[in-house]
Amino acid sequence: MIYLIKPLIVNITIIFSLMFNANLFFPFSKRKPLNFNKKTILGLFSAFSATLCMLYPIETLEDTNFDFRMIPILIVTLYGGWYPGLICTAIVVMLRYLIGGEYVYIGIAVSILAFGVGIMFRSGFLGSKNKVLYGVFAISFYYLVYIFILFSTVSFLDISFYFVYFLAFGLSFTALIYTIEKLIIANQQFDETLYLDKLSTVSQMAAAFAHEIRNPITTVRGFIQFINSDTKDENLKQFAPLILDELDRTNKIITNYLTVARPTNFTLTYIDVNKALQDSVELLRPFGSYRNVSIDLKLEGEHYIYSDEQHLKQALMNIIKNGIEAVEEEQGGYVRILKKPADEKGQVEITFIDNGIGMNEEQLGKLGLPYYTTKTKGTGLGSMITNRLIHEMKGKIHYESKVHSGTTVTVLLPTVRKK
Ligand code: ADP
Ligand code: MG
Repeated sequence: MIYLIKPLIVNITIIFSLMFNANLFFPFSKRKPLNFNKKTILGLFSAFSATLCMLYPIETLEDTNFDFRMIPILIVTLYGGWYPGLICTAIVVMLRYLIGGEYVYIGIAVSILAFGVGIMFRSGFLGSKNKVLYGVFAISFYYLVYIFILFSTVSFLDISFYFVYFLAFGLSFTALIYTIEKLIIANQQFDETLYLDKLSTVSQMAAAFAHEIRNPITTVRGFIQFINSDTKDENLKQFAPLILDELDRTNKIITNYLTVARPTNFTLTYIDVNKALQDSVELLRPFGSYRNVSIDLKLEGEHYIYSDEQHLKQALMNIIKNGIEAVEEEQGGYVRILKKPADEKGQVEITFIDNGIGMNEEQLGKLGLPYYTTKTKGTGLGSMITNRLIHEMKGKIHYESKVHSGTTVTVLLPTVRKK
């Protein structure tokens, strides 16, 4: 069996080194779905890796070719979908055909089988909590069919070869999934650090300007109110409310800035999450009905968190408000809020579902960046503040959206026992 070690290591090295290189060019991420071009490149990348594997087969006995070409096919189909999977499979099939030999069609069949298994298990795989375990499940199924094909056609290699081959195949496959998952997490942490860095820059600028601007505005506002109270000037009477409105809006923007600037000013208390949600919803209900949007609130169980009440409410209201604003007024719509225990113990999960205009991938990517807004009167600060506040509470926030059908925001917060 010693003679197997070298080609095995060659195959494993090819697969892993190309995977790391792929991660270098487009960092693996769950949040940023791949576009067509990237999928094409990913398909070619994996095809290259499979091709190299085929050029350094682990065992060629008579006309059979044992190598790890199915691993790139499986992985790229599971993670990237049918399109890159198909590119990889097509190239592998072509090459296998060129290599030829008596068992060429079996070689092609097991490659296509890998693609089929990838497609079949993909949605379950992406949705599963433990990807490595699900990977074992998928590959077990693949083995069953693969071994069946082998034994009904080419059963002349000795059993210990099959044992080593399948063991190494399975281990490499699961190790690959494990590494990819680790890379996804590392990339995500890197992005978050960058994001927080941006936030703190904005915060510092905000702190510097906000106070300076606020004071003169308050003075101007006071004078306009004063002049307006006993004027006979029609023009002034007509436009004073407009000026006051605009001043108030400016003031609100500054208040938002200040919240970004001072997120550390926590007054910590035990907060009843149900009550915080009820309060936030009640405050926004008039705004909702004005825009023809109903707000449903469903509360399962009791949860307490130890945090700043004002900040929690502000974060919740920012999310609900965005949901309301996303709904088109003429059609009307809803924002459904559900609070329940999270899957993970000691956490509460709050989901906000709206049936508004939704966002495409590009917009989802920009959401939360300072000043990113698509609204004429938006500030583009709401989501950034929400993200920051939730982050300060050691919670997590996640957006999912589909254009024209709506958005789901999921918030996870660590809970405490009632005081
Ligand atoms: P603002 O609300 O002031 O525009 P936000 O940071 O709250 O700023 O939101 C930024 C942008 O993200 C919005 O302008 C909107 O385009 C988009 N957005 C946020 N939440 C939703 C949602 N629930 N549905 C659709 N689009 C949303
Ligand atoms: Mg907003």
